[in-house]
Amino acid sequence: MQIISGTETRKKLLEKYKEIISKNNLKISLVIIQVGDNEASNTYIRNKLKYTKEVGIKSKLMKLDESITEEELINIIKKLNRSKTTGVILQSPLPSHIDFTKCARLIKDSKDVDGFSTNNLFGIRDNNEQIIPCTVKGILKLFEEYNIDLVGKNIVVIGRSNIVGRPLADALINRNATVTLCHSKTKNLEEYTKNADIVISAVGRPNLINKDMVKKDFIGIDVGINIVDGKLVGDFNKDVEEKASYLTPVPGGVGPMTVAMIIDNLIILKEKEGR
Ligand code: NAP
Repeated sequence: MQIISGTETRKKLLEKYKEIISKNNLKISLVIIQVGDNEASNTYIRNKLKYTKEVGIKSKLMKLDESITEEELINIIKKLNRSKTTGVILQSPLPSHIDFTKCARLIKDSKDVDGFSTNNLFGIRDNNEQIIPCTVKGILKLFEEYNIDLVGKNIVVIGRSNIVGRPLADALINRNATVTLCHSKTKNLEEYTKNADIVISAVGRPNLINKDMVKKDFIGIDVGINIVDGKLVGDFNKDVEEKASYLTPVPGGVGPMTVAMIIDNLIILKEKEGR
């Protein structure tokens, strides 16, 4: 079984991005909007700031009080849309009185680092990919890096969120895979996973997939993030290692790629500026 290392791949990519940015003297800036003080968000944001700065991007955090109204947040987004910043990220989750999807969709396409705008998401559906959501793009890059051919592969994606499962299924269809999208109402999940060449789980439920649910030599991509007894684990039970040909670990698999793809998307947005 071969480990698909997101940590190693990110390291390589960051060196490449650093070189592209310095060689072309790209002046890239990023604003991350956070509302409130969610602990998991603080960790993700710390990483986003760290790695973007490492490659020469001017990134900053705009931390807003939990009590801000949706209207006030919308006004801030509109102002950033008119600013010179290359990209804007609205960190989820938001407090329950603010609609994340509505606000994230207001970030204009040309500053939409996360690829959540209607045009960017529809672009994938339309096989006219522009900015791809970072986790989805990170998974695609891992397939590329490990020379995993997707054409004609039977791929089961579990999870249908707008930020991972759905755009991922669309992107895999664009790459000529045969895709089945499963979710919480899917009956007999194992009937699908057992026949899959590649199983991608983006659910957030530990031990959702075990070795009896997959075929020999399957490829496993574990997007899930769960804390069990203080430890970070994915959606796959450890016993799937017995049957996998390739597997992403948690931590160290998809997670590191998500932050790297923020930089990839920022470079694309910068290159599109002025075009
Ligand atoms: P989400 O919006 O909560 O979506 C979860 C999906 O899982 C939903 O479509 C849900 O189905 C489905 N689901 C729930 N229980 C299920 C079950 N028993 N069987 C099959 N499907 C089930 O989550 P998300 O934002 O897409 O994130 C998914 C996971 O990936 C989370 O653990 C998150 O922390 C992680 N994540 C990781 C990264 C990374 O960089 N590694 C990035 C983003 C997210 P319904 O639609 O029917 O409710």
